[in-house]
Amino acid sequence: MPHADPSYARLPERFFARVGAAPVAAPQLLALNTGLAARLGLSADWLGAPDGVAMLAGNAFPEWATPIAQAYAGHQFGGFVPQLGDGRALLVSELIAPDGARFDLVLKGSGRTPFSRGGDGRAWLGPVLREYLVSEAMAALGVPTTRALAAVATGEVVWRDEGAMPGAILARVAASHIRVGTFEYFAARRDSEALALLAEHARARHYPQHEGPLGFLGGVVAAQAQLMAQWMSLGFIHGVMNTDNMAVSGETIDYGPCAFIDAYHPDRVFSSIDRQGRYAYAQQPSVALWNLAQLASALLPLIGEGEAAIEAATAALDGFWPAFSTALHHRFSAKIGIASPKEGDAALVETLLARMARQGADFTRVFHGLASGAARDEFADRSAFDAWAADWGARLGREADPQAVMRAANPLRIPRNHRIAEVITAAVAGDMAPFARLSAALAAPFEARPDWDDLSDAPAVGEAVTRTYCGT
Ligand code: AMP
Ligand code: MG
Repeated sequence: MPHADPSYARLPERFFARVGAAPVAAPQLLALNTGLAARLGLSADWLGAPDGVAMLAGNAFPEWATPIAQAYAGHQFGGFVPQLGDGRALLVSELIAPDGARFDLVLKGSGRTPFSRGGDGRAWLGPVLREYLVSEAMAALGVPTTRALAAVATGEVVWRDEGAMPGAILARVAASHIRVGTFEYFAARRDSEALALLAEHARARHYPQHEGPLGFLGGVVAAQAQLMAQWMSLGFIHGVMNTDNMAVSGETIDYGPCAFIDAYHPDRVFSSIDRQGRYAYAQQPSVALWNLAQLASALLPLIGEGEAAIEAATAALDGFWPAFSTALHHRFSAKIGIASPKEGDAALVETLLARMARQGADFTRVFHGLASGAARDEFADRSAFDAWAADWGARLGREADPQAVMRAANPLRIPRNHRIAEVITAAVAGDMAPFARLSAALAAPFEARPDWDDLSDAPAVGEAVTRTYCGT
């Protein structure tokens, strides 16, 4: 039996709603992450057996489960919604891994809850497999993220814009699912008792080395600054950075219309619902800080009174840009082979990015190709690259082992939209083999293997996916 310890479910009842099973017709295990199961101290054999599948489908819970739907609010595209909450997800329990680390085990697509509003509480296979692939790819790339433990088909149909789609449930694991919007939920209700309990719970859980609500805020600011630098250095676009989709743990959470950039442009947007480009690639750090300001404002009554509290919170937020800029500078410098960046190196990176943007060069292929010499071929106008490469070559002469630095910083493989789309089409037709293949290849993003070559190709003309959807 796993070591379950539902600390969130021990908080006051107004933090969540207790939910029961909402059984589905014919649960079938589609994918199981055995490595992650072992990490959590869960038996993969049990998870794959009828009792395990029944839990992963939300059909029947083991005695150690304490299923709840968490309450939260959130700023969605800038507008405040005082009540969101888990409308189609439930927290099964928290697990204590063999090494002592604490994880939430959550089902997404598990049925209606008191927070479902008009929704059906369900998910379809497409977004479930998409989140599975992208979150696991992010983990393999070293980015803090929620993880995918399993995907289960429900045997039921879900109605979406696409039509009658096969239903599915994702089992997701995270350090916690406490969001900026969880704090906003209680702040909007002027429930300072709940706010204090939540801040202390989240601090003790994620930033035990920091003290008090202000220390907690500083920890979240620092974690998000690092996270944004990682997203940017991989060309990752989250797509819906609403405050309810930002975890205070610093993990990437809620993979909806997210995408990795192919043809590079700083203003790139994929999400079909982001019409103003609020969550465009280059906007992400500023949006993260805007979200952190919402967290700071929710925490204000706990930080102190009047001007002093505002000054203290502002000082914590002021830590964001320096931390982000330093991290970003190091990551992009490493991408061009520079281990310890010096004055002027930022300009070298910026010039390359500007030329990539002008020609729509493929982000991942250009950076990966720098070490092998193949980057040049990603530019329609090769002279633009050559002019940059002359300066770059001169600078690299002063580096000890630029090849090794680049190889460690530039993945060969990212989850490309058109590949994910192919996997989903096959899965809907009942063929999970393309999913298994892509999943294996994304677990080793830096490894070259001839039989995976096609997975690092840029989309051909007509293959490119330019719009991605929430899938709710
Ligand atoms: P998301 O866009 O997935 O971050 O979801 C925003 C809010 O809508 C959250 O409160 C979700 O729980 C809720 N939601 C999304 N899809 C559904 C659905 N199919 N049924 C019920 N609630 C949903
Ligand atoms: Mg969400």
